[in-house]
Amino acid sequence: MQVHLRTLGCRLNEAELETWGRQFQNAGHEVTRDASTAHLIIVNSCAVTQDAARKSRHLIRKIHRENPTAKLVVSGCYASLNTEEAEQLLGVDMVIPNRAKNELVDDVLNNLDLNSMPAMSTEPATISLFNRGRQRAFIKVQDGCRYRCTFCIVTVARGEEKSRTIGEIIDEINAFHQQGVQEVILTGVHLGGYGSDIDTRLSTLITHILQHTDIPRLRLGSLEPWELDDNFFTLFDTPRMMPHLHLPLQSGSDSVLRRMARRCKTAEFRQLVQHIRKHHPHFNLTTDIIVGFPGETDTEWEDSFSFIKEMKFGHIHIFSYSKREGTKAALLPDHVAKLIQKQRSQQLHKCAEQMKQQFFKQNLGQQYPVLWEGHAVQLDNGKKRVFGYTPNYIKVACEIDDSTSVENTIQSVDLVKAQDDFMLAGLT
Ligand code: SF4
Repeated sequence: MQVHLRTLGCRLNEAELETWGRQFQNAGHEVTRDASTAHLIIVNSCAVTQDAARKSRHLIRKIHRENPTAKLVVSGCYASLNTEEAEQLLGVDMVIPNRAKNELVDDVLNNLDLNSMPAMSTEPATISLFNRGRQRAFIKVQDGCRYRCTFCIVTVARGEEKSRTIGEIIDEINAFHQQGVQEVILTGVHLGGYGSDIDTRLSTLITHILQHTDIPRLRLGSLEPWELDDNFFTLFDTPRMMPHLHLPLQSGSDSVLRRMARRCKTAEFRQLVQHIRKHHPHFNLTTDIIVGFPGETDTEWEDSFSFIKEMKFGHIHIFSYSKREGTKAALLPDHVAKLIQKQRSQQLHKCAEQMKQQFFKQNLGQQYPVLWEGHAVQLDNGKKRVFGYTPNYIKVACEIDDSTSVENTIQSVDLVKAQDDFMLAGLT
C-alpha cells in the first residue's frame, strides 16, 4: 500500500511523521511523496494559532479533493481540540487525537478498512519525508507539558507530560544513524520536562545517547529556560553536543512575563546566559519573542526591548501576539492595537538583524566542522555554492568545483565573511 504523510506546524509533528513513516515501512508498506497516488493519507495537523487551525482544515479539504479515493486519517493539535469538527470534514475516515498518536499506525492498520495487501517491503526510510534530505532527523522524546503559560494552546492540545523510554530513543537514533543520518535533534513539547513521569531527566538521557550511540552531532530543540540542572551545561564540553540552544524568553519585561505565567524572569534568564557564555564564548543562543502581548504598555515594551538587546541573541523568532480562543490570555484586558504591534515588531526585526551580524562578526576566522546539506546553487564559473550548518548553528556557504559532491559529509571550514543570512567559508 502507498502511504502519504503530511504535516503542518512544529518539529514535534515532523518527528512524529518520521516515526510513523518508519513504522509503516516496517509493516511492509511504501511511503510516497505523491498524495495523488496514495491509498492512505495521514495529516498531522496544527492549531497553535487560529490561522494554523484554518490552514489545517484547508489542507484536509484540498487533499481529499485531489485524491477522493484515498483513506484519510487526521491527527495532531487541530484534530485534538476540534475532534467533532474534524470528523465532519468531507473525506475524513478517522480522527486520532494526540493522546493516541503513539499507537496511530497500529490503530489505522487494525481498524481502518484498507483491503490492501502489503507491498514488498522497501528498505526502511529509503525516501526522506522532507526536503532537507537525510542529513538530520528530529527525534520526539516527550509529549505534553505541566505548565500553563497563558498564551499557549499546545499545553491544552497535547495534555500531560509523557516521556519515551531512553532505550526506545537510543534504538531510533541508531536506526537513523545506520541510514546515514549525521545529526539528530531532540524535540518535545516541554523538552526540559523529559523524564518527569519516568523518574529520569534530560541530562541523563543525553548522557546515555552520547554513551550508547555514535551519532556525530546531537542538537537540542526548543527548550524552556528553566529546570536546567547545574551539570546540564557540562554536557556541552563534548564536541558531539552542538553549542546552540533555542531558549524562548517571550518577553524582556517581568510584569509581562507575570501575565504570561512564565516560570523564568529576566534576572534568572540573564544569569543562565552569563553562565553559558562564561564556559562557551561562541555558544549560539536563539529565542522566541511575542510582541504586543495584552496590556503591554510603552514602558513595558521599552524594558523588554532593552533587555532583549542586552542578551545579544544569534537569532530571534518574532511573533505578534494573536488572540487564541481557549487560552487565558485571550480573556485578558487591553489587547494591543495591530498598528502598535507592527511598529514594535519592525523595531525588533531591525535589532535582531544587527545582533545576528554581531554574532557573525564574533565568529569570523573561527574554524568549524560543517555538515553539508543537499541543496546547491550553480555558479557560472564551473563552480557551485553548497550550504550547511556549523555546530553553533550558523548557516554557511562554500564555493566548490561543480564535479565535487560534499552532501551529507562533515568537513572543517574557516569562516571568512559575513553575508546577510549566512557566512562564507573556505574549506581547510
Ligand atoms: S512551557 Fe511551553 S508548552 Fe508548556 S505551557 Fe508554556 S509555552 Fe506551552
